[in-house]
Amino acid sequence: MALRDIIILPDKRLRKVSKPVARIDEDIRALVADMFETMYDAPGIGLAAIQLGVPQRVVTMDLSKKEDHGEPAVFINPEIVWSSEERSVYEEGCLSIPDIHEDVERPARVKIRYLDLDGTLKEAEADGLFATCIQHEVDHLNGVLFIDHISKLKRDRIVKKFTKVAKRTGLRGEGRGEGAYSQAQTRG
Ligand code: ZN
Repeated sequence: MALRDIIILPDKRLRKVSKPVARIDEDIRALVADMFETMYDAPGIGLAAIQLGVPQRVVTMDLSKKEDHGEPAVFINPEIVWSSEERSVYEEGCLSIPDIHEDVERPARVKIRYLDLDGTLKEAEADGLFATCIQHEVDHLNGVLFIDHISKLKRDRIVKKFTKVAKRTGLRGEGRGEGAYSQAQTRG
């Protein structure tokens, strides 16, 4: 297992559509192990592979710190196959957009279909934080960020702020990760 760098807005790779995993092999298992390590270190409750710059449809999640019933989970090629008309609002954040939190409205419940790490096809119904989190992560696989669900005014302000920081640190949207970002933040 190894810690990997999390890519940060405005890194263009965050806008890529990730490819379905064709075969769950050693590389995917190693990726998943690194994703868990990086996610716990951040710390975060969910991570999509593209946030490590890997355009594969893989998501890790662990809601156990937030909810009693959570446990570490891997979703390979996850699909939302049903969404409720009922909606709910959660304050979301993202490891690729550090220190920004905004209310996002999404379907309150979804049904998902995915493969687990053994390649078994599974279905699950999600509500509450799980529903929000899996929708946030599936968005990542489609190149969508939570700021796409807020007002354009707010989104433009956030993108501008991160673009400025990236320029100042010479990252220009191909950033190496959070370390460089936090240093820039400390410098003000
Ligand atoms: Zn995110």
